[in-house]
Amino acid sequence: MADTPLPPGFTAQKLDQARRAFESVLGASKVFFEDLDRTSYLDKFAVNDDAHHPAGAVAPTTVEEVQAVVKIANQYLLPLWPISRGKNLGYGGTAPLLAGSVVLDLSGMKKIEFDEQFGTVVVEPGVGFYDLYDYIKEHNLPFWLSTPGNSWGSVMGNALDRGVGYTPYGENTKSICGLEVVLPNGELVRTGMGAFDGANTWQAYPFGFGPGWDQMFVQSNFGIVTKMGMWLMPEPESLMGMDVEFDRPEDLKAMVDAIGPLRRERVLTQSPSIGNWLRAAAVVTRRDEWTDKPGALSDDVITAIRKKFNIGWWGVSLRLYGREEVNKAAYKILEKAMSDIKPMLIKPTAWVKGQPKEYSGWTGTPMTFPMQNVNWYGGRGGHIGFSPILPQDGTKALEQFNRTYARYKEWGMDYQGSFAFGERHLINVNAMIFDKDNPEMMSKIDPFFRTLVKDAEAQGYGEYRTHLDYMDLVAKTYSWNNGALNRLNETVKDALDPNGILAPGKSGIWPKRLKGERGQ
Ligand code: ADP
Repeated sequence: MADTPLPPGFTAQKLDQARRAFESVLGASKVFFEDLDRTSYLDKFAVNDDAHHPAGAVAPTTVEEVQAVVKIANQYLLPLWPISRGKNLGYGGTAPLLAGSVVLDLSGMKKIEFDEQFGTVVVEPGVGFYDLYDYIKEHNLPFWLSTPGNSWGSVMGNALDRGVGYTPYGENTKSICGLEVVLPNGELVRTGMGAFDGANTWQAYPFGFGPGWDQMFVQSNFGIVTKMGMWLMPEPESLMGMDVEFDRPEDLKAMVDAIGPLRRERVLTQSPSIGNWLRAAAVVTRRDEWTDKPGALSDDVITAIRKKFNIGWWGVSLRLYGREEVNKAAYKILEKAMSDIKPMLIKPTAWVKGQPKEYSGWTGTPMTFPMQNVNWYGGRGGHIGFSPILPQDGTKALEQFNRTYARYKEWGMDYQGSFAFGERHLINVNAMIFDKDNPEMMSKIDPFFRTLVKDAEAQGYGEYRTHLDYMDLVAKTYSWNNGALNRLNETVKDALDPNGILAPGKSGIWPKRLKGERGQ
């Protein structure tokens, strides 16, 4: 690796002093400033391999150690970048936004406190979905997780970046109930009922008394979360549903307009995600098995792939959770709604408690196989996601798809898109899969991405989450009243973090001291 990246205003000597200060409070075994350490904290899916290099990392394992690290960072004006497990692949992984930051790796904090009566859990940052799943199995607890497509990461990191899973508890950030946070000045605070001394209702009621702050620490750089309370779904008596395939791109409109009302009415309580053929195919086959032609895939090749795997242009899985009698009644409603819009295939599925469970996202099983899609082009694969929020309206969804698909063709990229239902919105995740060993392809990703952001902005659509490279770009699109929201965010930032040590630049929020780094 090249020279050690230094934080703004640092000399190598000053960084070395900070490193020794960290060693004095954590011990050398939790301080990582060798070249190999720095390499292991890079973004493995980076579009630009020269950006976002950390100066090193520290890995405290107690709250007191986190506070000691924060104290040193304030003394030296050293930026810290907190991660839980750092598996936020496609959004930056373990890497900090500002080069020269020190990664605050919390993956060694792995305590789990489970309330078996109410199905609530308090997790520390390092608790992964696999850890919590194992804990639940080991203790034979009747609760299900809502795991994301890449369940390699942490329960906390996923909820803090608004990741989603497949069950009715799928919007994990909505299941947060009470946080413990180290503020940038080192103070420890508990939110909600946790602020009540001796509270035994911390995970029962998320709001507490006065303002509710849980969401303030989501996608922000206002604090380091050291504990997170969360609600889990009781194991249902029955799980029923159907996988449905549709033949034509324009079927998207009818799908959105048929599923949306059922979701808003809460006949469907999980969040179905409509995905195109490549979402299904890229995990089971590679592009070079079908063609060696560059540019976006032709309709002939798409048809051949779909035929081989018997999949539609779009597919969607609908699931019902809860009492069997209720599910049976609701199933008929789903079946009619889908049959009415003429799918090419409906594949029903049903499970009742006591039967062997399928290992999938629908049953809250952790998984990593969807990440297989990064092998689509061969070489060292990666992806980033362009994910605007759309209204739950079929015509608008189809228009946005048509615009985006035309851009993919124009830039010669294969389209992988999905439309995931919230209660009133759609998250339109467009995965840009790439081969890092193909310089011609890599040179296109950045301008292509910026084009899509611009197109969506012109329609009034903003992104829900983005990669480190684009945080300033996306924050700038939230421009109402001359960027009033960013001014509010930065007023709060400067009040809580006057030395600007915590995750500078995250979500486009820069502390006063480092405002000059914006857009760099
Ligand atoms: P995961 O391992 O679950 O994929 P990450 O550790 O990559 O999640 O974190 C996802 C995002 O959330 C990152 O932007 C990170 O900065 C932020 N984050 C993660 N853990 C914390 C934490 N304990 N406190 C504050 N922010 C965090």
